[in-house]
Amino acid sequence: MASGTERADVLVLGAGFAGLACAAELARAGRRVLVLEKAPRAGGRARSWREPGAGLDVDNGQHLFMGCYRATRRFLEMIGTADRLEIIPEVVVDYAEPGGRRDRLACPGWLPAPLHLAAGLLGLGGVGLREKAALLGFDQALKALRRGPVPEGVERLTVREWLTGLGLSRNFQTRFFDPAAVGILNESPETASAAGFVQALREMFFSGRDASRFALARTGLSELYAQAAREFVEARGGRVAFGVKAAGLIEEGGRVRGVLDEAGARHEAWFVVSTLPPWDLKRLDLPAPLRGSWEDLRPAPIVGVTWRLDRPVMAERFVGLIGTETHWVFNKTRIHGLEESGQTVAAVISAAHGAVARSPNDILAVMRRDLSACLPAFADAKVLAAKVVKEPRATLSPAPGDEARRPEPGSGMPGFLFAGDWTRTGLPATIESACASGFAAAEKILRG
Ligand SMILES: Cc1cc2nc3c(=O)[nH]c(=O)nc-3n(C[C@H](O)[C@H](O)[C@H](O)COP(=O)(O)OP(=O)(O)OC[C@H]3O[C@@H](n4cnc5c(N)ncnc54)[C@H](O)[C@@H]3O)c2cc1C
Repeated sequence: MASGTERADVLVLGAGFAGLACAAELARAGRRVLVLEKAPRAGGRARSWREPGAGLDVDNGQHLFMGCYRATRRFLEMIGTADRLEIIPEVVVDYAEPGGRRDRLACPGWLPAPLHLAAGLLGLGGVGLREKAALLGFDQALKALRRGPVPEGVERLTVREWLTGLGLSRNFQTRFFDPAAVGILNESPETASAAGFVQALREMFFSGRDASRFALARTGLSELYAQAAREFVEARGGRVAFGVKAAGLIEEGGRVRGVLDEAGARHEAWFVVSTLPPWDLKRLDLPAPLRGSWEDLRPAPIVGVTWRLDRPVMAERFVGLIGTETHWVFNKTRIHGLEESGQTVAAVISAAHGAVARSPNDILAVMRRDLSACLPAFADAKVLAAKVVKEPRATLSPAPGDEARRPEPGSGMPGFLFAGDWTRTGLPATIESACASGFAAAEKILRG
């Protein structure tokens, strides 16, 4: 963009879920919004594209949504794409492990929540009845933490310490709690604070049957929200500007008045909402009052591979892999309703601190080994195309003590509001946290 000054009511930095939810809410209420996005497209850490030459639609990583993603669903309703998210009625998770063992968590549809989850856990294979007796203590502990901030005494524990302290056997943890924790928190149970796990579990257990349902995008992620949100904002007099990198904030008289971009252009507004992740935000030229311990928050990586195969290798929508480096595999053919003779699957390594440093060929070899060991048909399948995506800064790495470092969404200083998945929404740093933070910032501005 050429140098000059542009004015809006509100400047939103970043066009991911948080920025677009915030901008859409403000635009709906009649505010003139300008979204500044450094990338040439919207979507941030949740986006998709068509892989040239491979005939593959690729997400930057498979994303799993939940029924309890209320802010996300409200956002999709607002921009008119809620029907692109499939809320799966039955709460079922299949697990596979090397050697061919299969187990299933099946939560009966006729039982009220949270009894359906309790019944599912009691029926889970590979875990003895004596081990399951510890669920009683787990249930009581979770009930005691049902509302409000997670107490510091729990937040300072790792997931492993918290679960072991509740008497849950290592075997039970490996077969149910660990895959859930690593999927939700993107960090190993030995590293992650128990806080985010408690926040997610209590939503799933105690806010109704719908909350514990899984949900999956029927389309690529960009089609789910990025294009529609941009159109929604622009139809209401706003603008989403791409290729504009914020370099610093303009502060006058103790109030933030706008943003200076890398090309030297000034963008002025009554309010600036930042949805930049902490590792990007801290690089900006910021007024001293905005600096703080949030700058110590660290990212955790995810590695994903989308495979196009010459034959089907799984029937389920998704399968959790136990005892392998690869954590989950998703049946894209079924999820997206693709009409193809073979199958497209997406596999995920969360908390991929080791894998992210490897070459794409090494990653493919590791996943091939894991998927062949757990899904026997994979071993014979011919790979027609494969796309490795490394996201070194996929999510917050939620270490014990980090909750206090996350600023409240909507906090900041006069004229400036923090938002983004990483702000302290009472949720782990997920899409739902991103949308909730964007709405919280917008509401604060609208309330005046
Ligand atoms: C591979 C992967 C898998 C995931 N799986 C799940 C899942 O299953 N379920 C789930 O709920 N969550 C998942 N997540 C997390 C989820 O994607 C994020 O929580 C969410 O997308 C964050 O949205 P956001 O708007 O807060 O941040 P972002 O999407 O990071 O948006 C911030 C935007 O700011 C832009 N930006 C940065 N610096 C500047 C600058 N200086 N000037 C202008 N713009 C700038 C960035 O380009 C970006 O577009 C996953 C993430 C990844 C990467």
